[in-house]
Amino acid sequence: MTEQGAAVVQLSGVDKTFFRGDQPVTTALQGIDLSIRGREFVSLIGPSGCGKSTLLRLIGDLVGPTSGKIVVNGKPASQARRDRDYGMVFQAPVLFDWRTIADNVGLPLEVMGYDATRRTTRTKEMLDLVELSDFGHHHPWQLSGGMQQRVAIARALAFEPSILLMDEPFGALDEMTRERMNQEVQRIWQQTGTTIVFVTHSIPEAVFLSSRVVVMSARPGRITKVIDIDLPRPRNDDTRETERYFELVTEVREVLRGRGVAPGDPDAAAADGDALASLRRTQAEGAVG
Ligand code: ADP
Repeated sequence: MTEQGAAVVQLSGVDKTFFRGDQPVTTALQGIDLSIRGREFVSLIGPSGCGKSTLLRLIGDLVGPTSGKIVVNGKPASQARRDRDYGMVFQAPVLFDWRTIADNVGLPLEVMGYDATRRTTRTKEMLDLVELSDFGHHHPWQLSGGMQQRVAIARALAFEPSILLMDEPFGALDEMTRERMNQEVQRIWQQTGTTIVFVTHSIPEAVFLSSRVVVMSARPGRITKVIDIDLPRPRNDDTRETERYFELVTEVREVLRGRGVAPGDPDAAAADGDALASLRRTQAEGAVG
């Protein structure tokens, strides 16, 4: 596993333009500089179309940059992908209904030619990790949405990747399940020491999970601000009630609205206070999402 503190992902001056033929159609990202250290949990948040998924896909070498440099574990992203340094989890768990849960988790190992004994051992470890040991013989359609997503996480971690890339993995789940999954993914992250890069639309989710939140703006996609989340771990339901959590949720929301709060700015501090009060009211009504 990666040493804590060393940069595992380094993007320098990265631009991404999509072309149709030789005509540029969209400048998805411009001037992206970002360094992610080992064992960090970094969330990317921003309005639809600001390039979050594209940024994740660039790190994972699913698309290449138009210009700039991407270094992963000290090598080009393409080499990192060949070395299986990544696991990936998307919004849809993409499980094969005709295979059991254990066979879904073991599928990448099967493709890589692991023998049956090694496959069984590793699959069992992964099912234990996501607390689905009793469901190995079930089929995907017998599991809830949250459980299916845990299977997808187990499959993505089967190769012990040093980096887990997650693209809105809980976006299709209801709020209660999503909060449970947030605790679950925090536990898995702490247990495995994997570096996680996580795309989300949800401010509470980003704040609850992350070591740092990368706030992005659209057209073209840029990084507006990177916010350190200094909440103690492990975080739990009580964390969501703390003053500091409210402050951080408010800060992310303000930066997303284009009202980055400069320290010591009395107007900004007043706006922050208003937002905090309004957030507390909303939370009290149970409607933060
Ligand atoms: P987000 O994940 O923040 O919603 P995306 O990374 O999916 O944003 O997209 C960023 C921008 O790039 C959008 O304008 C989108 O339409 C465009 N885009 C993404 N993928 C492609 C593609 N394969 N071809 C052309 N344009 C694309």
